[in-house]
Amino acid sequence: MTDRTRPYNFAPGPAAIPDEVLREAAAEMLDWHGCGVGVMEMSHRGKEFMQIAAEAEADLRELLAVPAGFRILFLQGGGLGENAIVPMNLSRGGQVDFVQTGSWSKKSIAEARRYADVAVVATNSGSADSAIPDPSTWALRKGASYLHICSNETIDGVEFHALPDLAALGTDAPLVIDCSSHILSRPIDWSRVGLAFAGAQKNVGPAGLTMVIVRDDLLGHALPITPSAFDYRIVADNGSMFNTPPTWAIYVAGLTFKWIKANGGVAAMDARAAEKSALLYEALDATGFYVNRVAAASRSRMNVPFWLRDESLNDAFLAGAKERGLLALKGHKSVGGMRASIYNAMPVAGVRALVAWLQEFEKTHG
Ligand SMILES: *Cc1c(COP(=O)(O)O)cnc(C)c1O
Repeated sequence: MTDRTRPYNFAPGPAAIPDEVLREAAAEMLDWHGCGVGVMEMSHRGKEFMQIAAEAEADLRELLAVPAGFRILFLQGGGLGENAIVPMNLSRGGQVDFVQTGSWSKKSIAEARRYADVAVVATNSGSADSAIPDPSTWALRKGASYLHICSNETIDGVEFHALPDLAALGTDAPLVIDCSSHILSRPIDWSRVGLAFAGAQKNVGPAGLTMVIVRDDLLGHALPITPSAFDYRIVADNGSMFNTPPTWAIYVAGLTFKWIKANGGVAAMDARAAEKSALLYEALDATGFYVNRVAAASRSRMNVPFWLRDESLNDAFLAGAKERGLLALKGHKSVGGMRASIYNAMPVAGVRALVAWLQEFEKTHG
């Protein structure tokens, strides 16, 4: 969006942060707005940080059009922490349903089994194209406290492009979404969601901050074993300051929220995600040299895993990419190959540069 001096970073998370955000954080490092200290050094209960946190929360609420009946909580513990914290708060010790669409939902399922009676009501496991099973086929249980989905599978590159309408499927169980790796890349239909959680380090800012957006009526049902710092009711009642929040991460996340607002809001991020992912998938699909097997309707716009058909060329591909300033394209160790994570902070020009490299590499090795 401005002139670039840095390489393009395709890391899956922690991931690229907009240059403008990093420059502003750097400029304010020693002295935030003339108060004499940097954000990392100030009290979380002082008026300066209270203002930073309140603005971050208000901007996030505005960007995602979060309705009045939902609380925004800033927590720690990451996405994996939420895999335990959500069942502790929402399961009421009973049944919890899951849709398994890849590695992250699988991890959520394993963790929830420690706290609740878990059922996998649908899965794409074993399907050749990882297509998300049609919601009409999900074997939802009547008594389930909630249904959990991972709305973007970061490792497998599988994304829900629409959230399921559980009411239409005949249940009033709330929907829980792990939207860690695509939050703020598209709007969220809150009429279909009871709770959304996301670690910040994919599409928002530094690691250490977890955002939880939860409907009011889901607060106050935590199991007695729930740590106080992870009891949503207690965290909400204390304005996310029951204990010291991750102040630096909240501050940088707040700068990112302002950057998104200045660049057209979530609608613009949504349009850019569509443009960038279309460019990339089109290049990958153009010939048989590269492979991505995810069904078109379930392909992620944020995380694009792909393979070279001839895997003996992997090292040459990565070395050449690095020379051209295209970093962190190596795929997750569990699936191999390559992965390009193209979050909000990735400019269209970065994807164009990657596409040019895909084509050049194919020309010389194809
Ligand atoms: C990265 C990620 C997580 C894990 O986050 P941590 O902060 O490492 O606990 C959870 N869910 C999804 C979808 C992710 O992409």
